[in-house]
Amino acid sequence: MTDRRGIVIDLDDLHDGWPDLMSKANLNVLGIHNWNPEHLISAKIDTLIRYFQSAEGAKTVDRLDKLNIGLEFELHAMSWLLPREHYNAFPNWFRMDEDGERTAKDNFCPSNAEALEVVRTNAVTLARRLKPSTNRYYMWQDDNKPWCNCEECRSYSMSEQNLLVMNAILEALQTVDREAELSYLAYMATLESPPEKVKPRDGIFLEITGPGIHQMDQANPQGIHNDGKFQLALARNLQVFGAARTQVLEYWLDASLQSRWKKPVKKLFFDEKTASKDIEYYNSQGIGSITSFGVFLDERYFREYGEPPVEAYGRLLTEADRASDV
Ligand SMILES: [Zn+2]
Repeated sequence: MTDRRGIVIDLDDLHDGWPDLMSKANLNVLGIHNWNPEHLISAKIDTLIRYFQSAEGAKTVDRLDKLNIGLEFELHAMSWLLPREHYNAFPNWFRMDEDGERTAKDNFCPSNAEALEVVRTNAVTLARRLKPSTNRYYMWQDDNKPWCNCEECRSYSMSEQNLLVMNAILEALQTVDREAELSYLAYMATLESPPEKVKPRDGIFLEITGPGIHQMDQANPQGIHNDGKFQLALARNLQVFGAARTQVLEYWLDASLQSRWKKPVKKLFFDEKTASKDIEYYNSQGIGSITSFGVFLDERYFREYGEPPVEAYGRLLTEADRASDV
């Protein structure tokens, strides 16, 4: 059954209409994402921190709390956790690219103990400044970017390097929040081959993106283009991470994807039939946490097109609940 029914929007999309609409739709988790061009991702996290420390942010937190809606932060966080300014003084903290050069771009070198220590310290700071109400943390790798090719890292796959870093971050988070759980995000390069040599620390949960994004990804011939291939990838990941805490991150309500990440945004087409079929499948696999991106569903969208089909989405999750309760 779907215990956690969520939507993930960007801070720019957040407005007064959201908490009430979520409540009407019987959704109980709001994820705030830092959608932005790559070089502004880290600055966007600072903007989020400022907002949630402001009186307006506190009002939003309070409102969600009263409606029993959990608040989480789903962030591409690597450039905040390891600021790129350190590159000049400590190039070895950073990723070695395919040509054997250290580069400040994209993720970092997980074999470098000093780099990992900086990441762990900053992860604790971030967790304190943007504290979820659910103990679930999301400090994702850089968006669809490679990991390190250095001598020590090379034998670890992208998935394994990602998990090495997530294990280290979680260990640090658990020193300040004993209940902390941390997302391991499986998508794109980390979707089809889950980690083998590295095991998830207790408290790591699988977060897996649905097929929507991969169907759009025509440039990637290895991408997932059909449900069968996706389901195989999901099964492989569930073998490693188990289903109990697994969360799906779908794209059914993602206006940004449908508008190819450009504003002005088109009216969202919610494919109810596909969503219903997918939800049924996830539930059959024992997955009880389902969310969808809804980026670009901002105040202007509500004004221009009316309420997006969030109630219809919530209804599917609730109906699936009932079906699995029988
Ligand atoms: Zn390395």
